[in-house]
Amino acid sequence: MASATSPSLLSPVSPASSPTGSFPSSPPPAIIVSPCAACKILRRRCVDKCVLAPYFPPSEPLKFTIAHRVFGASNIIKLLQELPEAQRADAVNSMVYEANARLRDPVYGCAGAICQLQKQISELQAELAKAQAEILNMQCQNANLVEFICQEMSQNQENCPQDQPNENSPFFFDENILGVAWEPLWT
Ligand SMILES: [Zn+2]
Repeated sequence: MASATSPSLLSPVSPASSPTGSFPSSPPPAIIVSPCAACKILRRRCVDKCVLAPYFPPSEPLKFTIAHRVFGASNIIKLLQELPEAQRADAVNSMVYEANARLRDPVYGCAGAICQLQKQISELQAELAKAQAEILNMQCQNANLVEFICQEMSQNQENCPQDQPNENSPFFFDENILGVAWEPLWT
């Protein structure tokens, strides 16, 4: 473990504004922002144009810790420097995601999650195909049933005589029955 007083090899040696204030004519120093999470963890000075600072704010130290553990700081920096600025945030998110997956599943990492999701997709696709086949089958049955009912109805209409004399009159509630039934109520 290097002592805290020795300057890190990574930190650029530059005459930063000294705390003694030996240059009274110089403009007031810019607001001192805390070092970015990456520089804090790497124990180096966060320079003005720190490539990591926009993506690893001090409020989220875990983000860098995880990415650093899997990819290594130099690889992260190298990768970011090779990319246009517009793509760096996505790259960092991707690295952090991949690092998280790798820590959770050291053998397969992200590929494990992808395989699992693809398996889930194929299972759901099979289930969907089965359901669609069932729907088709039911629609066929429905159509057959409708056809059958139509045929039955047309046959019945042909067999049924149109004007049947109404011999069996339903008036069997004749006065006698009613009289017997109602008599006790009035006596
Ligand atoms: Zn920094």
